[in-house]
Amino acid sequence: MRVLIIEDEPDLLRGLAQALREEGYAVDTAEEGEEGLFKAEGSDYDALVLDVMLPKLDGWQVLQRLRKTKKTPVLMLTARDQTRDRVKGLDTGADDYVVKPFDLPELLARLRALIRRTANQTRARIEIGEVAIDTAARNVFHANVPVILTAREYALVEYLALHRGEVVTRTTLYEHLFDEDDSTLSNLLDVHVSNIRKKLGHEFIVTRRGHGYCIEL
Ligand code: CA
Repeated sequence: MRVLIIEDEPDLLRGLAQALREEGYAVDTAEEGEEGLFKAEGSDYDALVLDVMLPKLDGWQVLQRLRKTKKTPVLMLTARDQTRDRVKGLDTGADDYVVKPFDLPELLARLRALIRRTANQTRARIEIGEVAIDTAARNVFHANVPVILTAREYALVEYLALHRGEVVTRTTLYEHLFDEDDSTLSNLLDVHVSNIRKKLGHEFIVTRRGHGYCIEL
């Protein structure tokens, strides 16, 4: 999953980006509204973490303009717990919000829930044949036995599982699993898929030649 954080407080931005990377997200950042909007319009992020008080364009303006072209789920960081802010946020098209100063585990849980909802997956646990994926704990089981996946392998499995039944192109996977600073080697994806198949069974991920990868329904 790839997330864009738009936040102008350097320490908060750095801390949040690090926390999300530790959770396995690919993370891009922007320190002001114009740059944030430019990035948000230019990529299909799985979610945006958007601060309200920002230089150049504030969070409301970013959201309003973004909604003309993109449905990207947006988690707002509001400064005060005021009904006015919340109503404004929901009216403008925000999907959820947390109030600063926020509790990191709560923000992470809300972000996961937001991404699941967008994929029409209401439960944190996804079961596909003998494979079970716990998206809250980021654990994977095969026939009830825990399987150790690398962060990238997990991200790939989770993305395909949330889009089960769809053929996901290589381009889409690169866009959602790698951040803007990653150098991407085109054969890397095949290596990850091959390793996942060794761990979860060869049939788990189907290759559609010339199209992409798929976890079948
Ligand atoms: Ca701010």
